[in-house]
Amino acid sequence: MKRHKIVLIPGDGIGPEVADEVKRILDSAGAKIEWVERYAGQAALDMGSDVMPPETLEAIEHIGVALKGPCTTPVGKGFSSVNVQLRKKLNLYAAVRPVRSLPGVSTRFENVDLVIVRENTEGLYSGIENEVTPGVVMSMKVSTEKACTRIARWAFRYATHRQRRKITVLHKANIMKLTDGLFIGCAQNIHKNEYPNIDYQELIIDAGCMKIVQDPSLFDVLLLENLYGDVISDLCAGLVGGLGVVPGANIGERKAVFEAVHGSAPDIAGKGVANPLALLMSSVMMLNHIADTREDPGAREIAHNIRKAYDKTLEDGHKTRDLGGNLGTTEFADAIIERLNKHAGIS
Ligand code: ATP
Repeated sequence: MKRHKIVLIPGDGIGPEVADEVKRILDSAGAKIEWVERYAGQAALDMGSDVMPPETLEAIEHIGVALKGPCTTPVGKGFSSVNVQLRKKLNLYAAVRPVRSLPGVSTRFENVDLVIVRENTEGLYSGIENEVTPGVVMSMKVSTEKACTRIARWAFRYATHRQRRKITVLHKANIMKLTDGLFIGCAQNIHKNEYPNIDYQELIIDAGCMKIVQDPSLFDVLLLENLYGDVISDLCAGLVGGLGVVPGANIGERKAVFEAVHGSAPDIAGKGVANPLALLMSSVMMLNHIADTREDPGAREIAHNIRKAYDKTLEDGHKTRDLGGNLGTTEFADAIIERLNKHAGIS
């Protein structure tokens, strides 16, 4: 593998704990990465900077790839979500979140293999909220033809490249006739005019949720606007073992930030029990992205070895508490590294 500069934002809560272990595993796997550490959110505030320091944005703009831990978002007050700010400011318009069953993790369904594609820049995440009069507040849902078309095209292109057979749009266009109506209209156009060979389906989101939890094998790629994508991501995480095992990527033009679906998990922060797998899986997506965009097949090989090592670790019954095991964050990472070394013939 070539040597690559990557921005690392450790994040808040469990972020730094899981990021440390991911760095250690990548290093053991032979990934040659020069980490450029930058801060955002509460961690940046604690250091006396802005919530979103310009040097963090500049580093991602300049280097093009970042691995990011979760940043705390205050509920109902305080600064607006750093995760959302970052996606908007860098125009990382496509969130992609693969959800798959893992060996050794028993859940209600076997062989779940879904990909969530979420529009990342608008919808109810526009952040436009105001008080009309005391006791009456409103929040604006924004949909633009440009962003709806862009995410639909991205999803169809992704499905085609990954040999996926079907795209399902989940929506509520029966109620939000204009905003969700535009979203499905744009998806229909892209399907009809550019990718007629991919199966296409639309489902009202409430009925769609019921069908997903009844039989996830009915679905393949799910395409959603911002808020629905957020909610469905956690619902689908529940199908495969929870938030500790679902990775994600936020992709824009020539920029990508890889981050787990989970938040900063303040309830378990600092206890050494967080599952580092979701961020590790995000880093595997990152290595594959590097292989594609920086022409480095060595990065893909390392990604493959890490994936094999964590699959084997789970298969051997080594798990963190969220998956029903008893290993702490570091012990679980040790178990993965042991398997990486065995695979490489290092004893
Ligand atoms: P935030 O406000 O930063 O989004 P949150 O607590 O609202 O954080 P999550 O951080 O996603 O939301 O946590 C939801 C639940 O899932 C918590 O009980 C948390 O402990 C658990 N959880 C999330 N990530 C992990 C992980 N990596 N390992 C173990 N448990 C996790």
